Amino acid sequence: MPLYDYQCNNCEHVFEVFHALEDDPPRCPQCTCPQVTRLISAVAFRTTGDGTAARVEAEIKKRLGQGGAKDALRLAEKAVDLAGNRKGMGKIKAARDKLRSKLKKK
Ligand SMILES: [Zn+2]
Repeated sequence: MPLYDYQCNNCEHVFEVFHALEDDPPRCPQCTCPQVTRLISAVAFRTTGDGTAARVEAEIKKRLGQGGAKDALRLAEKAVDLAGNRKGMGKIKAARDKLRSKLKKK
């Protein structure tokens, strides 16, 4: 079963759960709110091929476009964690470092 990251819309708690995509989204373990947002599936990085870095980059850009720099950094860190040695991940690492220093300055 794939692992998914969720963030609670109510208390912003982030948690990971194993569940099938066709299942209903889980409730927040902290406040039991059923409104949760799926962040990124770790399974996305397990697929073979060289598309991983491009996919991660697109996701990062999407989040940055929505003003979610923190979210983008979290995604980049997770991606490097899970697939750091994949082809093309150098630019994800660079993006992560950039986001890190950018967020630190605030
Ligand atoms: Zn919650």
